[in-house]
Amino acid sequence: MGFQLTVSDYQDYLALAADKIRENQDYVTELDSATGDGDHWSNINMGFEKLTASRAEIEALSLPASFKKIGMIMMSVIGGSSGVLYGSAYIGAAKALKDKETIGNQELYVILDAMLSAIMERGNAKPGFKTMIDTLHPAVVCYRDCLEQGLTEQETIERVRQAALDGAARTAEMEAVRGRACYQANKGIGHLDPGAVTMAYQIDTLMTFVAAKLVS
Ligand code: ADP
Ligand code: MG
Repeated sequence: MGFQLTVSDYQDYLALAADKIRENQDYVTELDSATGDGDHWSNINMGFEKLTASRAEIEALSLPASFKKIGMIMMSVIGGSSGVLYGSAYIGAAKALKDKETIGNQELYVILDAMLSAIMERGNAKPGFKTMIDTLHPAVVCYRDCLEQGLTEQETIERVRQAALDGAARTAEMEAVRGRACYQANKGIGHLDPGAVTMAYQIDTLMTFVAAKLVS
């Protein structure tokens, strides 16, 4: 069993992630209205709409150049903190891909790990601060463990998905250290972090997509 995603496959995934985000307008807006300024859904949705509209242009590029382009689009179109963070994430992943032309199990780990490092550095934040990092970090740690243990791709994908979903769920109990929720009297305790939820949508969609691409 294995998978090898092409530039075009990755655009298929982005289109599915765009659908997932579009469908959750009310929920995500409600989350960001509780602890932030209510714009997270419209910010991120605008970015994904633009990515979908730019598909032909992105698809014509090499894999690393396509990631750089995705990052630049996200940085310029998504407003708020998340635009800069996602932009840095994709540009960081583009660098980490070097001259790779497809994404297999190892490369997918490298991409997620590079995104995590870029987000942590750009946002000056760590796991436990009640942000999107609290979804991505456990997913990356889980991925690394699965690779070290030599688990199958199928098992790995399932575990990484669960780690991301569990990570997002745990933000409800966290006190915010970064993001707008840290200005609230109770630091957002009792509320999920919107950025952690939309990050979970993306990882969940990506893992479902990859699972469907597995060939024996
Ligand atoms: P803004 O907070 O500027 O309105 P958004 O609403 O688009 O931006 O995004 C908010 C999300 O961004 C938060 O829910 C959180 O997950 C994430 N976030 C905010 N600041 C940081 C940071 N310093 N590091 C990592 N993630 C952050
Ligand atoms: Mg906001």
